[in-house]
Amino acid sequence: MNRAVTITVTDMLDYFGKCPRCGYPATASKTVRHLGRINVVIEVVATCGLPCGWSGQVPETTMTGQPSVGGHGHTASP
Ligand SMILES: [Zn+2]
Repeated sequence: MNRAVTITVTDMLDYFGKCPRCGYPATASKTVRHLGRINVVIEVVATCGLPCGWSGQVPETTMTGQPSVGGHGHTASP
């Protein structure tokens, strides 16, 4: 078995944070590191969309919340 650390980087398309320096919407990417079977470290690093040079680690928060999971996609109207 391979014991190397698995690192997965995913662009967070639903991240709506802003740069604390210039206020421009920032982009974020999530880095998930699998350190073995149970240890998972998740880091979210945001980068400013403008070349002001800011980037930093931010809490993992999104505006969309949890996606709806289920086979029934119909919404009943009152
Ligand atoms: Zn900025």
